Amino acid sequence: MTQTIKKNERYTVDIIDLSYEGLGVAKIDGYPLFIENALPGEQVEILVVKAGNKFGYGKVENWLTTSPDRQEITSNVLLRTGIAPLAHLSYDQQLVFKQKQVEHVLAKIAKMPEVTVQPTIGMEEPTGYRNKAQIPVRRVEGELVTGFYKKNSHDLVEIEDFFIQDPQIDQAIIKVRDILQRFQVRGYNEEKNEGQIRHIIVRRGHYTHQMMVVLVTRKEKFFKAKEIAEAIHEALPEVVSVIQNINEEKTNVILGEKEKVLFGQSYIEDQLLGKTYRISSKSFYQVNTLQTEVLYQKAIEFAELKNDDVVIDAYSGIGTIGLSIADQVASVYGMEIVPAAIEDAQFNALTNKIENAHYEVGKAETVMKKWQEKGIKPTVLVVDPPRKGLDARFIDSAIEMAPERIVYISCNPATFARDVKLFAEDGYKLEKVQPVDLFPQTHHVECVGLLRKG
Ligand code: SAH
Repeated sequence: MTQTIKKNERYTVDIIDLSYEGLGVAKIDGYPLFIENALPGEQVEILVVKAGNKFGYGKVENWLTTSPDRQEITSNVLLRTGIAPLAHLSYDQQLVFKQKQVEHVLAKIAKMPEVTVQPTIGMEEPTGYRNKAQIPVRRVEGELVTGFYKKNSHDLVEIEDFFIQDPQIDQAIIKVRDILQRFQVRGYNEEKNEGQIRHIIVRRGHYTHQMMVVLVTRKEKFFKAKEIAEAIHEALPEVVSVIQNINEEKTNVILGEKEKVLFGQSYIEDQLLGKTYRISSKSFYQVNTLQTEVLYQKAIEFAELKNDDVVIDAYSGIGTIGLSIADQVASVYGMEIVPAAIEDAQFNALTNKIENAHYEVGKAETVMKKWQEKGIKPTVLVVDPPRKGLDARFIDSAIEMAPERIVYISCNPATFARDVKLFAEDGYKLEKVQPVDLFPQTHHVECVGLLRKG
């Protein structure tokens, strides 16, 4: 069939599905259209805003019917910026949507339609949960503006209430922006790669309330930097660390290599499952503290720990998973690619008086191979990789090492399904899968699975 749908045409369509990104899906003679703010079961009048060869995008102009699963949104920018692309769907249905995503990939990619996926564990209060924000700063008509980009663009929309962030962080961003304005710091101009302040990053410990402010600047020379940092501390007494990160490049990557402490320490602390952790600016830390505790508890339950277990905590970050279980097992080995995170993990082991945890910097696939050659024999392997999942070489080494149980924590169901299929081909059985909602109001899906050696 030749495609006849064109940009700027209007249609009335029925929404038949929700894409994995949370867009409504409609079909006209088999041609799929993806539509923001449209839910399955709704009939809508749309304007075609983009029409490619295989699919297009539409914009709702009028709802003829609305779904009973629709909920009020505080602002349309939540959808338009992609901050909270599911904010218009009731929270119960968001949880069902995530469970279905995992079921779908397990059937399609892993070819395991028989595996039961538990209902997603959600939050009681599914807003204001993020403990970290990375906010772009621009100069508009002489004023500094903070907000977020419209999806697939670099148009900044001014936002003060980010809905899913700790409200104290929202407040901090406004205060920091106003201080920068007062000191006449120039906002970054992306096109010209001019100006100074690019991003404001704020992290706040969920339990400790310690705050870190990172000012990402284009130039190392930062006029009145110390006074600005002092002013930030004065306006925000929770701040224990102000850092300047320098990023001179014309790039989408937020952080540069070089950093300077402008005020206080180079880290904040927080707690997880009763243990204390130091978190440096460049270290990964899960953004939803309460749900991370729920996720880790599930992972620990799945691991069926015994006191003679040897555990590998792969992709360890600052050591939070391994150190949570170290006192229940014989030993823990962790590895991670970011040197600052491994320094934090070693420090965290000391702080929590843990002596049986060993950490190494490096790529998981390289370190795993080395440990395999050294003869380390884990009984339990915990993996928590980034979105791209496990490297095939990592899986090969893991299979050689033959742990009895593998607990796989994943932030991307598609690569999770791909990887569990590879483990299954070598005799591991996927026994249980539990999605935990770490990212309410967004389309991001987190799950934990248990693989057992047959
Ligand atoms: N388990 C930790 C971190 C999980 S996030 C926690 O729960 O907090 C994934 C981590 O993998 C990040 O810290 C990232 O820096 C690290 N990472 C990314 N690619 C890696 C690789 N190839 N080898 C080792 N670590 C990697």
